[in-house]
Amino acid sequence: MKGKVYLVGAGPGDPELLTLKALRLLRTADVVLHDDLVSPGILKLVRSTAQLHNVGKRCGQKRIQQEEINFLMIALADSGLQVVRLKSGDPMIFGRAGEEIESLRKADIPCEIVPGVTSALGAAAQAQIPLTHRRTSSALVFITAHQASESEAADWSKLAGSGATLVIYMPGQNYSAIAAKLKASGLDGTTPCAIVSRATAPRQQTFRTTIDALVHAPCLSAPALLVVGEVVRFADPVALSQSFSLPDGVIANDSEFSGVLLAKPALDAHGSQNDEEAIS
Ligand code: SAH
Repeated sequence: MKGKVYLVGAGPGDPELLTLKALRLLRTADVVLHDDLVSPGILKLVRSTAQLHNVGKRCGQKRIQQEEINFLMIALADSGLQVVRLKSGDPMIFGRAGEEIESLRKADIPCEIVPGVTSALGAAAQAQIPLTHRRTSSALVFITAHQASESEAADWSKLAGSGATLVIYMPGQNYSAIAAKLKASGLDGTTPCAIVSRATAPRQQTFRTTIDALVHAPCLSAPALLVVGEVVRFADPVALSQSFSLPDGVIANDSEFSGVLLAKPALDAHGSQNDEEAIS
């Protein structure tokens, strides 16, 4: 009898943000194929007798091709195993779920999707930034700064002009290029924005600034994303007064958007993570 593949969202980092269904599957799966960004705290929940494979695109020295991951899922399920394909955040957002589902359908392998908390929502929770607000933003756009090919390159001007809150996944660390692209798209340089790093995971950090001043922002650790829009003004003021250690060269102050670092205390150790894994 054929097994089944579950594309499961691991959420942004905090294991308590897993769904009950994801937890049940981690405890019962025969094999778990996970991405680099899935936190160690979540991998600990996998049944001890299950096979656990890191199929992250930067796993080890060799880049694993998407085709190899598709082949592995199909072969394992074909041999009767229950396979969890564990992805950070939500599997359907910048996670190549579309390609994986397509290959499973072609191979006639049953497949089920288990949603997870996408990192934009984790980041919004961490920094207490409401992504929509009755007074400032009634639309929300998830985009990536990192395109797998030129043909995927999004036209940001259509998005920026809408007044929507933008959440930019995989922003990389070339903040001046992103700032230039945002301004070229029609956004005002005074628009507030926030870099949110390791949302909901230990040593999470948020740096609040403006598009104009983004170039002076510290390079926060991956994974990180960028929230752009007036809603960033509502970021948690209490977190601003919390004590934290600053990265080298960062001056903390709470003056209006001149570069404010918000951080929350670490809870436990968190492994190193790679950025831009999903569609690179
Ligand atoms: N499917 C994932 C996105 C994968 S793309 C989701 O729904 O969240 C990988 C990108 O997600 C990273 O480059 C980063 O921009 C973002 N990301 C993932 N985890 C994050 C975290 N804990 N904090 C901030 N950004 C994160």
